[in-house]
Amino acid sequence: MLNIILMGPPGAGKGTQAKKLIAALEIPHISTGDMFREAIKEGTPLGKLAASYINDGHLVPDDVTIGLVKERLSKSDCAKGYLLDGFPRTIPQAEALEVMTKEIGREITHVIDIETPKEELVRRICGRRVCKKCGAPYHVINIKPKVDGVCDICGGELVQRPDDNEEALNVRLDAYHKQTKPLLDFYAKKGLLKEFDGTSSAELTPKLLAYLGE
Ligand code: AMP
Repeated sequence: MLNIILMGPPGAGKGTQAKKLIAALEIPHISTGDMFREAIKEGTPLGKLAASYINDGHLVPDDVTIGLVKERLSKSDCAKGYLLDGFPRTIPQAEALEVMTKEIGREITHVIDIETPKEELVRRICGRRVCKKCGAPYHVINIKPKVDGVCDICGGELVQRPDDNEEALNVRLDAYHKQTKPLLDFYAKKGLLKEFDGTSSAELTPKLLAYLGE
């Protein structure tokens, strides 16, 4: 059983690797960032609350985020394994995750940390564009679409995430260092953590799959 957490700073390539891993492993991708962005798009009360934190780069409060993940993890498709991307991001979230996964018999088996140098994170995040419709990722320099501003896959409009600017990125990196990095120690002590270099996205995927035994 593969019950995986994918960790790393914003821009490390969690989302990109997650999409490749779930395609190969055939397990659900649980991205709290994607769930919040979906709620924002739909204009739900959760979306309105989340937007007030996300757009400036701040973390959404723990109780809200934990509730969302608890509901998702208890769904039947997670019985065959799951990949968490962007959760947990704080010690209280990790502690709550431990309790909820124990309760449902779906405990974490692997914690993967993707590390990437800060200059590369800034370059990736500030140049990132995403399709408004299907979420496919692009970059103004090295992942250009065939037609400027238009998604190759679905024809949707390419936009910049409101939190993908240098100011919000600094807040996100600060939250990562202060609140999320301590989790590395938390999982290392449990013998679950393995670190990888995220500088080359193409080289990383086969390494991750080999590590996961695929
Ligand atoms: P991501 O797409 O993972 O970079 O997440 C985008 C934003 O969503 C983050 O900067 C946070 O504002 C919010 N978010 C995502 N996951 C969490 C989490 N586990 N705890 C708190 N906020 C989160």
